[in-house]
Amino acid sequence: MSSTQEQIQDRGNTENETQAKSSAFLQPEEHVLSTLEHDGSRRWLYPRLAPGNLWKARRIVAWVLIAIFTLIPHLRFADKPLVLLDIPHRRFTILGFTFLPTDTLLLALAMVSLFVTIFLITALVGRVWCGWACPQTVYMEFLFRPIDRLFEGTKGKGGRPKEPLSGLRYWGRFLVYLVLCMFLTHTFLAYFVGTEALAQWIRQSPFEHPIPFLVMSFTTGLMMFDFLFFREQMCLIACPYGRFQSVMLDRRSLIVAYDKNRGEPRAKGKRNLPVVSNVGDCIDCGKCVQVCPTGIDIRNGLQMECINCTQCIDVCNDVMDKIGSPRGLIRYSSQEQLESKTKKILRPRLIIYPVVLLITFTLFGIVFASKHAFDATLLRSLGSPFIIAQDGKIENNMRLKLVNRTEKETEFTLKLIGAEDAVISLQDGEKLVLKPEETKTFTFLVRFSPSEAPTGKKDIQLEVDSSQNAVRKMKLTLLAPRSYSGK
Ligand code: SF4
Ligand code: SF4
Repeated sequence: MSSTQEQIQDRGNTENETQAKSSAFLQPEEHVLSTLEHDGSRRWLYPRLAPGNLWKARRIVAWVLIAIFTLIPHLRFADKPLVLLDIPHRRFTILGFTFLPTDTLLLALAMVSLFVTIFLITALVGRVWCGWACPQTVYMEFLFRPIDRLFEGTKGKGGRPKEPLSGLRYWGRFLVYLVLCMFLTHTFLAYFVGTEALAQWIRQSPFEHPIPFLVMSFTTGLMMFDFLFFREQMCLIACPYGRFQSVMLDRRSLIVAYDKNRGEPRAKGKRNLPVVSNVGDCIDCGKCVQVCPTGIDIRNGLQMECINCTQCIDVCNDVMDKIGSPRGLIRYSSQEQLESKTKKILRPRLIIYPVVLLITFTLFGIVFASKHAFDATLLRSLGSPFIIAQDGKIENNMRLKLVNRTEKETEFTLKLIGAEDAVISLQDGEKLVLKPEETKTFTFLVRFSPSEAPTGKKDIQLEVDSSQNAVRKMKLTLLAPRSYSGK
């Protein structure tokens, strides 16, 4: 960490620092982590606000995203929730289509597409997700940090509070956090249980639904821990995306970067000098460090801790305006652009990722379009492949798994094609009726004369008809003893 950063960031606990200095332990020369003091204690960050153009744009995006996140569980499409991730029943409803446990291929294709899209976006525009759309950043920077500033006030133009929170103000902020986290948790839960079930639970006593209540309490507790205490540590320690970026970014990816060629050598207070020569545009004011929510100095180059929040761009542009230098000392750029001034963005991964995406989207479309009003899977029952009945007929024991994908109760009928002397007999005359979106496995017998399969094997077809006018045909193999002509 630079000496400037040392000066400008209030380390918070000066007592600890003094103790640490006088201790027998060797002090590291630099900060190992931007949020760790030399003595290993947490260095609390109080980033200043730089309300520039990018911040204003991010604020609009953040509130649009918050509104979308809050509204989605309440919206319906084709008479179904717009999004409902019903994990207990293993049913995901998205945009009116319900994905069932049998849709593994669709789910796998959707996951592959999602990951490749993330790779592509990162290769193109770096960590734009982290800075602009990640819920951690959106809620921390545009909801909880403004609440902190409201309750704590700020020292001058700094990000540090006027005085430590205590008494009523401390509990007032705690209560506001609690209410907001509970609201967020309920919204989050609505994605998994639906708004109707949630509204019912809210009106009932927690003892009538203890598990959802415990889930809600635990999730609220986690959110409180995150937004009150853990904060930037989520990005620095817990989130794997920051680590992945090193392999997903390349030298042509867009990043928030400091232009060393233009900024160095730094000259503190350059604007006060009558004649300035041989100095860069950076006046070493340290404001880019003061505004950073992860406590880093962007002038040290690309760092894993940088979430591309653009606050350093906004504040540095403001400084440049004041000293009469062009904006953009810190800007969106790429490592290659900064070094060689070339603006090339094309590279192999920008061709490979879209091609993979095209393939997965096409496959997804084909599999999706081939979905019927119901799924049927025919299986042979365990045990003996055939039984010779007392009357000399052969019996094959089969299982049929049916998935009703419609919103209506549906009755199914079975028909054998390709065997004149074969009949289907369901257990106890059972009817093949399925409730909306129900999955059920039925067992049935296929009885046939030995003459149907004199060689011991014959392929015929099973036709499944639904009362919703959908038909599916599948292969059914009759198995019988070889050279058996019956009694
Ligand atoms: S805000 Fe700009 S001028 Fe000030 S220290 Fe940072 S890079 Fe230099
Ligand atoms: S270095 Fe700049 S863009 Fe990166 S996290 Fe800090 S303020 Fe945000």
